[in-house]
Amino acid sequence: MSSQFDASVAALRSAIEQGESFVIIPHVNPDGDAIGSAIAVYIALTKKGKRVELIGADEVPRNLRFLPRWEEFRSAREMFPDDAPTENMPKEIEHFDLAIIVDLSAPRRLAHARHLIPLAKAVAVVDHHELGDDVADGILVVDSSYAATALLLYHIWEAIGFEFDSDIAQCLLTGIATDTGGFKFQNTDARALRAAADLVQRGGNLSLIHEMVWDRKPESALKLLGVALNNLRIAANGKVAYSTLSLQEYESVGATDEDSEGIVNEVGKVDSCVISALFREHLPNRIRVSVRSRGDIDVAEVCRKFEGGGHKNAAGCTFSSSLESAIAALMPSLEAAAL
Ligand code: 5GP
Ligand code: MN
Repeated sequence: MSSQFDASVAALRSAIEQGESFVIIPHVNPDGDAIGSAIAVYIALTKKGKRVELIGADEVPRNLRFLPRWEEFRSAREMFPDDAPTENMPKEIEHFDLAIIVDLSAPRRLAHARHLIPLAKAVAVVDHHELGDDVADGILVVDSSYAATALLLYHIWEAIGFEFDSDIAQCLLTGIATDTGGFKFQNTDARALRAAADLVQRGGNLSLIHEMVWDRKPESALKLLGVALNNLRIAANGKVAYSTLSLQEYESVGATDEDSEGIVNEVGKVDSCVISALFREHLPNRIRVSVRSRGDIDVAEVCRKFEGGGHKNAAGCTFSSSLESAIAALMPSLEAAAL
């Protein structure tokens, strides 16, 4: 670890020790790492007797509603219905000593929750994504060599003065398990497995995580997968596999965008492909794209060209256009990256 990193961890510890009121915020469209990390920090701070709010732009995804204390999340979309600062804030969110944003560094990706940032005296970022061009101003505890923010948190846990319990272990284990695809993606290194073993020892339940996160889905999600597999298209001589989901198709099977979680990984099972993508029309003329790659191909770099980002092997971006226009805009870059 660099001394710069150690200095940031020390700064975070001192901000935690000195602060009395905190807000913990995960990114928009949160995943198991964002939610698990946020709840873990929430529990740890609460146990220290601090006043803590857990606020996200979006609701906790259904498949994460087995995590301890998930009901304590509050919705920033409800707090800021006009997506603008409001005057009559509930008293408990008028002021915070520290805002801790987890699993992201870009205020833009907080969506409605970004209006909480000016209410905090200071900001800390705990994240494992590469820094982009939009980075919150504050204490940056960021290291992209960690497979998950939860894994980074696990490693700095005692240094920032937190104590483990079994609920915290379950939250951190969920973050590591989800960002490593259930310990099968390339980012599953010895460090992740050692942490997982220790978190299981401390009370984490890995088989419950597998069952709740991946192996139980509503009927609409399975039907949506069927639609996406049926729409499969192949490009670049088999090197790129992609699919689409239109608003009408979502409606036809009674699915919501949440039901599309994981579908891009199914598309990526085409044996010849090295890049896969799923183009989803989750709102009229709003296309969210999930992109995955095998090996050394960096799809975050491709997505950054379209104001998106992510990791080398898992990234995303959004287009304000029709499905076919989004495909036409992105595919040349994906095909070039696949060759
Ligand atoms: P997913 O396809 O699962 O939504 O996203 C894959 C990865 O890319 C996640 O790490 C996610 O945080 C990141 N990602 C997706 N969309 C965006 C985006 O628009 N901007 C940035 N910076 N990262 C994104
Ligand atoms: Mn993550």
